[in-house]
Amino acid sequence: MSTMPPFAVAVDGDGWARGARVLPSPNFEARPAGAVPTLIVVHNISLPPGEFGGNAIADLFLNRLDCDAHPYYDAHLRGLRVSSHFVIRRDGALEQFVSCDERAWHAGVSSFFGRERCNDFSIGIELEGDDASAFEAAQYGALAALVAALLERYPIEALAGHSDIAPGRKTDPGPHFDWARLRRDTALADRYFPYLRA
Ligand SMILES: [Zn+2]
Repeated sequence: MSTMPPFAVAVDGDGWARGARVLPSPNFEARPAGAVPTLIVVHNISLPPGEFGGNAIADLFLNRLDCDAHPYYDAHLRGLRVSSHFVIRRDGALEQFVSCDERAWHAGVSSFFGRERCNDFSIGIELEGDDASAFEAAQYGALAALVAALLERYPIEALAGHSDIAPGRKTDPGPHFDWARLRRDTALADRYFPYLRA
């Protein structure tokens, strides 16, 4: 059963999505000359790990997370400068931190079938969640709507998980992320999912 998008999403000429809450992050730079987004990378994140809700993800991406507030932050996040382009909250609410025209710092060391530095040519979407929990129907709905909007605006050729492009280093979006559901919801051909196993 496919999920109807909860709202219309459209990406404007500056790479910002109408329908998203805009929280501009400084953690980006220009894409290399000639690079356009051809890959969508799906992630999960929760802060503290395994806890949903609150503002810690946005605070991290905006460089204002109080790293004294939790031992995990202190051990792993101090001084980190990262951001994805988008976060999809548990209720399906969409937040945008970096214009899709820019190179956001979400994937780190990565390789897409031998093409390295995936941040150069990708758009990063974080689902609020973790590797141990199912994602919410509202998140799949928002993700499908966002993917459709990105395909309208950019020459996207593939979707991948962070774990696909950084195997051994990253595990997200994790075993509960339902790629077949995303494929159904987006009605995209198999070739857009080069890592999807039947
Ligand atoms: Zn990730």
